[in-house]
This record gives sequence, structure tokens and C-alpha cells, in this order.
Amino acid sequence: METIEEKKKKLLVEKDRQNVWHHVSPYKKENPAMVVTEAKGSWITDHSGNKLLDAMSGLWCVNVGYGREELALAAYEQMKQMAYAPMVQSHVAAIELAEKINEMLDDDYMIFYSNSGSDANEVAFKVTRQYHQQNGDPSRYKFISRYRAYHGSSMGALSATGQALRKYKYEPLSSGFLHVAPPDNYRRPSGQSVEEYNLLRAEELENKIIWEQKETIAGIIMEPLITGGGVLIPHPVYVKKVQEICKRHGVLLIIDEVICGFGRTGKMFGHMHYDIKPDIITMAKGLTSAYLPLSVTAVRKDIYETFKDSEENSHFRHVNTFGGNPAACAVALKNIEILEQENLVSRAAVLGERLQKELAELKSHPYVGDIRSLGFVMGIELVEDKNTKEPAAAQRVGKIIGECKANGLIIGKNGDTVAGYNNILTLCPPLSSTDEDLDFIITVLKKVFKQNQP
Ligand code: PLP
Repeated sequence: METIEEKKKKLLVEKDRQNVWHHVSPYKKENPAMVVTEAKGSWITDHSGNKLLDAMSGLWCVNVGYGREELALAAYEQMKQMAYAPMVQSHVAAIELAEKINEMLDDDYMIFYSNSGSDANEVAFKVTRQYHQQNGDPSRYKFISRYRAYHGSSMGALSATGQALRKYKYEPLSSGFLHVAPPDNYRRPSGQSVEEYNLLRAEELENKIIWEQKETIAGIIMEPLITGGGVLIPHPVYVKKVQEICKRHGVLLIIDEVICGFGRTGKMFGHMHYDIKPDIITMAKGLTSAYLPLSVTAVRKDIYETFKDSEENSHFRHVNTFGGNPAACAVALKNIEILEQENLVSRAAVLGERLQKELAELKSHPYVGDIRSLGFVMGIELVEDKNTKEPAAAQRVGKIIGECKANGLIIGKNGDTVAGYNNILTLCPPLSSTDEDLDFIITVLKKVFKQNQP
């Protein structure tokens, strides 16, 4: 006999099926979406009471972990005091947050608020094009990004995205977006050192600029490491070289810190691993640990100067109603305070190193081609054959993810979005994960890989 509770749960799933259009995933009757009802620390609970360790921090975003009462209180206090002011005006939380972010970036930027990572990148593109126009360089309108990177779902950000399966069916997208291959060190040609290979990839980027006529190139957008596209970590010489190339050709360097920002890589911002100074930095996810939507486009002050005191008709004509929402800014300030007070940025590095060390034994597993990480973000590349490096079949990848879930562990993959390379498992747990959480992740992964032999 079904209990009332069980009936209620079934009804909820049915209502979900009838009314909610889920993101990216097709609806499957035999496999309905998980309804999450509670979350604390690194753990989420579904409506049947199953507890799972969320080693993806939602969508790579809940950096300080779930269930932080301080963040709820920060939002509550701010909403009570003053719920809304558009950013054509200003308010205390927005001012304090901009000052705080700038302090972390050596005071060299102006902070523009929006709602999402996609929004922040759209702002970066518009600022870049307008900057060149008012700087006497109006023919610069093209952007170069990398294949396999994801930069968002709105038309410009999707155009910059280098994952074909996310784009086809929505084309034509915005014009003026070009792509080059990123460094993929695991798949570099034999006989090349990682450093040589990375320099060659940077050279290809420079050739693209030259062949496209450098006077048409406005900006390059890249993540400090490609996260969602398969955790591709460049050698530092690549990133340094890209900055050098940008400077040489008058191209702005936009660094997308939407995932890497706020401690994920073991430094406050991912680009800080490479000793570079981006022209524009975009941030979202970890900014509020996703407790409320907020994003930032940080623009170098000398670029902003060309917009300041500009003639009527030439100021930056971009507005969004919710950008810089007071409660979201208050939550971001509290979130950064937690990151700092609990040393979660250095904790990310410690946790990541331990994860690498403990999983090293999996490198000899027949299906594991490569394990790579920076801070607390990891990719495990699965192959059918270690010699040919043939990417693992989707079924095999899905089976491993499914078995992890059956054992209470949520991990991700680079999705069906990167043509030909849908074979990389991803891990991005909350930076607040405890040692016991990490033990759990390691135990489940080892168990599941042991179960999956040729
Ligand atoms: N940039 C990167 C690197 C991302 O991973 C994402 C989202 O996953 C975005 C931009 C877009 O962010 P949003 O989903 O908040 O629009």
C-alpha cells in the first residue's frame, strides 16, 4: 500500500513533468529529474530522502557549500532595509562590493553588475567593441575564443562558445566570432614537450589574428583553464604568450572567471596563476556561491576612462533591471568574507592536491587516460584504448556517472556538447568540503572504477 507521503512525492514528480522545462536535458519518463529538497555543506537531499554528495557544487557554483545561514541573513537584512535600487543610481552594498572586488584586483578596475555569467560576457563584448570605436579603431569588431570553451547561452556568449552541439539549431549566431584550438596537453603530438606545444598553440592564435587582418580583431576571450569543456589546463607559457600577443596587436584580453573565480583553482582568481593583467574580467557563480544571481564585468580603469565624461550618445548604453540587486550584493560581500575567514581559497589547493594524490592509482586503470586538476577542479579523461587515446564511448561514461550516483556521489562530465570528446568526467566540489567528504568522494570513485573493468 502506498503511503500518503509516497503519493505526494509521485504527484510532485508528475507536476514537474507537466510543467517544468528542464535545462539542456531531454525529459525521460524512466529517469525523471531529481527533486532536491534540502542541502547542507557538500550534501543534497532529494524528496525521497536520499542523500548525495554534490561533487559538482550544483553547476560549478556553490563554492562555500550549502546551508549557510549567514548568507540567508545577509539577504534578509538587505531586503528589509532596501530591496531594490537600479544601477543607474547606486547603493551601499554595490559600492562596498565593488571596492572589495577591486581590492582583490589591485584597484585597477571598474565594476559593472549584471545577473549571470552570460550577461557578464555580453557586457565584455559590448565594452570592447565600443572602446575600439571611441579609441579611433572602429574596424575592430571580431572576437577570438577557443574550441571546447563554454562562455554562456545568450547569442553573443553562445557565439563565443566553442562547442558545436550547443550551437547548431540556433544558427546563424552573432557574426564576428572566430575560434582556435586550445592547448590539450594530454593529446599533444608525441615528441613535443608541453611547453613547446603550448607555445605553438599560442603561435596559431597569433597567426589567426594576422591572417584575419589584425585591425579587425577586437578581443580574445578565454577562461584561465577550460572548465566545462573538459578541464584543459594550459601551461603558464601559453597564457603569458597570449597576453603578449594581445598587447602586440592592440587586442583586448577578456578573462572569463565565471567558474575559476572566487577560489576554485586555489587562488582567488584563476588568472593569478599566470602573472597576467587582463583588460576585462568576468565573474559570476562563485561570486555569491549561487545563493542569489549576480555577475560582474571588471573593466580596466584606463578603458573605462574612454567612456567617462563622454559626449551624449557615446556613453555605455547598457542596462539590466536586476544587475547589482542589493540583496545579491550583500550576499556576495558575506560570501567573500566566508571565503577569506575560513581560508577556503588555500583549502581548495589542499583538497585538490589530496584528491590528485589519492586518485593517482587510477591512472593505471585501463579506461583512464589522464587525470588533471588545478585547485579543486578535476577532469578524468576516459579512453577506450590508452595507446590510441580513442575517447571512451558515451555509454561507458554514462555508466560510471550512474554508478557514482547510485553510491551517493554526483559527478559531472563535459556534456554532449564537445563534438568528439564527450569523455571527460568532471569534479568541482564545494571548497568547504570536509576531509570526510573528500574521503567519501575518493572511496566511491575507486569502488566504481574497480567495478568497471574491460
Ligand atoms: N562562462 C563560463 C566559463 C561558464 O561555465 C558559464 C556557465 O556555465 C558561463 C560563462 C555562463 O554563465 P551563466 O550560466 O550564469 O549565464
